[in-house]
Amino acid sequence: MAVKTNYLAKHVRALKPSGIRKFFDATAGMTGVISLGVGEPDFVTPWNVREAAILSLENGHTSYTANAGLPVLREEIAAYIENYFCVAYHPESEVIVTVGASEAIDLAMRAILDPGDEVLVVEPCFVSYAPLVTLAGGKPVIVQTSRENQFKVTAEELEAAITDRTRAIMICSPNNPTGSMLSKEEMERVASVAIKHDLVVISDEIYAELVYDELYTSFAALEGMRERTILISGFSKDLAMTGWRLGFVCAPKEIISGMLKIHQYAIMCASTMAQYAALEGLKTGRKDVNEMRRSYRERRNFIVRSLNEIGLTCPKPEGAFYTFPCIESTGMSSEEFATGLLQAEKVVVVPGTAFGEGGEGFVRCSYATSMAQLQEAMNRMKHYVATL
Ligand code: PLP
Repeated sequence: MAVKTNYLAKHVRALKPSGIRKFFDATAGMTGVISLGVGEPDFVTPWNVREAAILSLENGHTSYTANAGLPVLREEIAAYIENYFCVAYHPESEVIVTVGASEAIDLAMRAILDPGDEVLVVEPCFVSYAPLVTLAGGKPVIVQTSRENQFKVTAEELEAAITDRTRAIMICSPNNPTGSMLSKEEMERVASVAIKHDLVVISDEIYAELVYDELYTSFAALEGMRERTILISGFSKDLAMTGWRLGFVCAPKEIISGMLKIHQYAIMCASTMAQYAALEGLKTGRKDVNEMRRSYRERRNFIVRSLNEIGLTCPKPEGAFYTFPCIESTGMSSEEFATGLLQAEKVVVVPGTAFGEGGEGFVRCSYATSMAQLQEAMNRMKHYVATL
């Protein structure tokens, strides 16, 4: 019997599948493919972190933890945030350990939005933001950034999009897919808009540790922002722990108590084994993070130089592990370029449009892959562009 799609809710039927997945699916059955499409480290989780998880199993730590996560892990998260980002959170009432930053974003939307409330979503951006606003009953209001501003949103652009239904600004710096990062002054201007209009800032800081040239500032550390910031981060990127599905959120206790109710009913708690691993990562993993950062910086410098030499203009991204070169000189759309490159040269890049309409004319190339693979990918891309 055919499955009826109308069993699905209308708003779910209306959701578009992620444009990133589509490109991975297209590689099924192909051999010799080099992927610059992935949004995850090519490193394996550091050994001592893996070992801590194994040890936790050997010690029989196989039951649920507290809903908000192991108290000792929350303490370590709060200490880490205070040390590195200069913001103090109470581990008992202002931190939740989540199933990746992904769950934290979902919780944030569901906790603060009433039906029809608007969230300013700065695009191009990570694929989940707008869908999660919609799923929470809210309305994403897209604020496009442009190449002219290095894909950094300005206070004026945000302010122009505010209505009496606006509840929050969703922001990610360093950004996926552009790698651009707001300076402290630019953040302060965004913060003053949030304060003036009494908005929450949902700050996705998952790439905070992968910043290459400048010091990092957290939104929550800016004057007047701690009380209105939902700080989201996790272990996927800096500790190469994507598969462990572990993240966290810090926010004032009133917001956290709302988010915790949802987390408690939907999730109960994050994986116990993964929590023990993350605890070890926070305690001893900084050396590994520093080494991975050094390696990403080297690869970033290489790929940016190569892309520009090929004729695909690409500014140097300040953070994360993505470049966002402009492909307009080829006369192709982002989708045509990415499809053609895959078919002709077996290199996966993601069309900029997967991250919002403003990504047209660009593709995302991740450099979280080995130098040898990057070199080969650049040779193939050069050949592809030369044949156009
Ligand atoms: N936020 C951004 C900006 C991301 O790029 C990603 C993953 O690519 C996530 C959140 C999801 O992270 P997690 O694996 O912690 O759910």
